[in-house]
Amino acid sequence: MLKGKTALVTGSTSGIGLGIALALARQGANLILNGFGDAEGPKAEVAALGVKVGYHGADMSKPADIAAMVAYAEAEFGGIDILVNNAGIQHVAKVEDFPVEKWDAIIAINLSSAFHTTRLALPGMLKKSWGRIVNVASTHGLVASAQKSAYVAAKHGLVGFTKSIALETATTPVTVNAICPGWVLTPLVQKQVDALAAKDGVGDDEAKRRLLAEKQPSLQFTTPEELGALTVFLCSDAAINVRGQAWAMDGGWTAV
Ligand code: NAD
Repeated sequence: MLKGKTALVTGSTSGIGLGIALALARQGANLILNGFGDAEGPKAEVAALGVKVGYHGADMSKPADIAAMVAYAEAEFGGIDILVNNAGIQHVAKVEDFPVEKWDAIIAINLSSAFHTTRLALPGMLKKSWGRIVNVASTHGLVASAQKSAYVAAKHGLVGFTKSIALETATTPVTVNAICPGWVLTPLVQKQVDALAAKDGVGDDEAKRRLLAEKQPSLQFTTPEELGALTVFLCSDAAINVRGQAWAMDGGWTAV
């Protein structure tokens, strides 16, 4: 379905980003991966699906790095057709204890990076008369939790940004949407499971059960594969009129 398209998925060396990258590659899209840590393993996983794969190590908190990554996409892949703004970090602390540098990093990586990728990639999509932008927000783009002020502010901001750009592009063949996962068992969440296990003096399985029970009525983690399938749908022709949505996949978290 996506043969001949090129997708850039930020933060795709791990977790949800890698799941989305693999789902897009299974539909034939060429992939540009990004993120920290080992890139060779994820690159090999994507390449095994028979598509062209590249990698750029841009630090998403740095606008100049982001510009270099978009230039790389243009030079090596002829531009970006599908932009998935996924890179993100978390820090949990009460506002009066929140480290200023963590606040700045979360706003830069989880929110401002999407502004930079979008402003740089959108003109190419409009020129080619096709494009999809999918912003990985969170249930925390729709509702709040205590001790996550920077993350909640950034994700609510990302949902607002999504709606604004969807309106700016409403009459074009480019669609812009956000997806809002509930708990997904990735390294980002495992850190919170570990913290809960230590606080409550329980094992890993019990900590996971307690984490889910607090917020996610299905009592099941959302998976990167499910989020990949939702992204593939948003890239399909059938989704041409899905615009400016913040689509929750959260086991009922935001239904309460
Ligand atoms: P993860 O830690 O597994 O992956 C994060 C990815 O972002 C990694 O590839 C990492 O290298 C990359 N990254 C981090 N900082 C970066 C930077 N400065 N520059 C470039 N890359 C950077 O986390 P995840 O859970 O897969 O999270 C992915 C996205 O999904 C995030 O935006 C997160 O907020 C969102 N999300 C996660 C959950 C969850 O439960 N795990 C729920 C809702 C939303």
